[in-house]
Amino acid sequence: MVVGIGEAYGALKDSFDIAKGIKDISDKVALNNAVIELQGKLLEAQAAILSSADRERELEEKMTGLKRQLSAYEDWDEIAANYVLMDYGGNTYAYEFVVDPSETSNAPHRACPNCFGHRKKSILQFTLRDPYQRDHYKCHACGDTFVFGVSENPPSIPEQY
Ligand SMILES: [Zn+2]
Repeated sequence: MVVGIGEAYGALKDSFDIAKGIKDISDKVALNNAVIELQGKLLEAQAAILSSADRERELEEKMTGLKRQLSAYEDWDEIAANYVLMDYGGNTYAYEFVVDPSETSNAPHRACPNCFGHRKKSILQFTLRDPYQRDHYKCHACGDTFVFGVSENPPSIPEQY
């Protein structure tokens, strides 16, 4: 049941009517009953007001959450503008940070293509270079691993004498 300001107003109006009638009650039992009824109506009004305040607070929280999402959505476009989809050979791709030479704080890096598709920046961490000269990277956000580069034959091991 949705309780709001209308219900609070109704309960307060009933309380007022009861309070107006109390002055004319001379019987002690009837007076006690009227006071109990009055307290009940006041509690009803208080509950309706609190419920209404809870709903208002809930809506404000929802709105704050939506504003935050919108802000993150807008921020992402700005972040994404600093990356280009790079072909590392052998049909291997990742997003590479476009380094601005004037900004020394931004180190060159690759961003996870999975996370990038979900509007999230996650820097790929280099793991190793395999014997086929391919670079292995890991995304710690989604847990995926990536291998970049064209596969080359491993260097031949010199014969032992
Ligand atoms: Zn990822």
